[in-house]
Amino acid sequence: MAIKIDGKAIAAAVRQEVRAEAEELTRQGMTPGLAVIVVGDDPASRVYVNNKKKACAEAGIRSEEFALPADTTQEQLLAVVEELNAREDIHGILCQLPLPKHLDDKAVIAAISPKKDVDAFHAANVGQILIGDYTFLPCTPAGVMELLHRTDIAVEGKQCVVIGRSNIVGKPMAMLLLHENATVTICHSRTKNLEEICRQADVLVAAVGRAGFVTPDMVKPGAVVVDVGINRGADGKLCGDVDPAVDEVAGYLTPVPGGVGPMTIAMLLKNTITAARSLMK
Ligand code: NAD
Repeated sequence: MAIKIDGKAIAAAVRQEVRAEAEELTRQGMTPGLAVIVVGDDPASRVYVNNKKKACAEAGIRSEEFALPADTTQEQLLAVVEELNAREDIHGILCQLPLPKHLDDKAVIAAISPKKDVDAFHAANVGQILIGDYTFLPCTPAGVMELLHRTDIAVEGKQCVVIGRSNIVGKPMAMLLLHENATVTICHSRTKNLEEICRQADVLVAAVGRAGFVTPDMVKPGAVVVDVGINRGADGKLCGDVDPAVDEVAGYLTPVPGGVGPMTIAMLLKNTITAARSLMK
């Protein structure tokens, strides 16, 4: 049986640290403030936004929600972003994605001040990450690195395989592993011999979005397996990209739920503190 990496417990520890920092900033007269923009009434977005607001409240971060109707125009949305960019009591801005189809998410991300871009999606921040000189890291890959650090798993010199190449997870994940001197391979939907490549991984990160994608025969015995996926299984239950039977082969495994998921919000809180501190200077 693999050792479970307890994301819930590690996220709770990060959140406690964030709370201490938020209290310190509040004592200095600067309560960290996060603005959360949500457009329309997508139920999944609603859940994510509520979770983020609750986590902020628990961590001593002031959050403000901007719930805009589904028929909001691009101009109206950009006007809200501009207003938040200018506000001194708002240090982090995030726009919950996906947006309704008539809105251009790239233009919205580009409009957010890079200094307040706590999701680290702005091209300026992505570029900073590429050169290894960054203020913010995107929350999910940063959460994975935090899980590895706090489990004393070093990736230096190891073969790391990331399945998935999205801008939000796969690509930055590969970059963060590379920054820590791993040898990194990115696999995607056009990769040939994917199973064989995965079998060579000391650290295998799955960010595909398909239940049961990583099967035991794809995992090197003793490997660290990080499951980023959030899917609904045939039984309607939440599950990751990794087949539960991988537990018999892997050395370490992040469960779903309770693995990477809780870390994503914890890192968002951490980024908000970072933003408040850097705007204070
Ligand atoms: P995405 O759909 O943007 O990207 C999926 C990637 O998987 C693509 O790059 C694609 O090339 C690759 N892929 C698809 N089919 C493949 C195949 N057959 N073989 C190899 N690669 C294949 O998704 P995303 O935004 O990167 O998210 C990935 C998963 O992670 C989803 O389940 C998502 O819900 C989850 N997610 C979780 C968190 C979290 O907090 N835990 C955060 C973000 C995303």
